[in-house]
Amino acid sequence: MFMGPTMYFDILKTCVDCRRHFIFYAAEQKHWYEDLGFSTAADCVRCVDCRKLRQSDERSHADYQRLLSMGRKSLEDLSSFVNAALDLHRQGKLKSFEKVRAILNAATEAHPDSQSQEGITELRERIRSAEQGGDVDP
Ligand SMILES: [Zn+2]
Repeated sequence: MFMGPTMYFDILKTCVDCRRHFIFYAAEQKHWYEDLGFSTAADCVRCVDCRKLRQSDERSHADYQRLLSMGRKSLEDLSSFVNAALDLHRQGKLKSFEKVRAILNAATEAHPDSQSQEGITELRERIRSAEQGGDVDP
């Protein structure tokens, strides 16, 4: 049986990440506490944009970890891996691409066909430009 509030009101809040005001809508509160079963102590502290950003950050992190420990990677896996690494780098969570490079080096040997080599070279280029821009971009 649901024991939380039975009435909800739109609440004006300030996002803890970007400090902008946003509205925690009554319908959204109802969804959180009744449909999703969140504790009524759970509070909404981030605006929708920042919540989305965090979710995609978490996804990049999970992708990076998963692909890092994966054995043989297809070119597609490598591309997802590099994308995740670049995302993490942008967020300041990945300081060095050393592991990424090591994996690309291993992949160069594992995929000797010219199409894969081309793809891997392109991934290397993306890392290089991220490193060069790394100190300039926020
Ligand atoms: Zn925000």
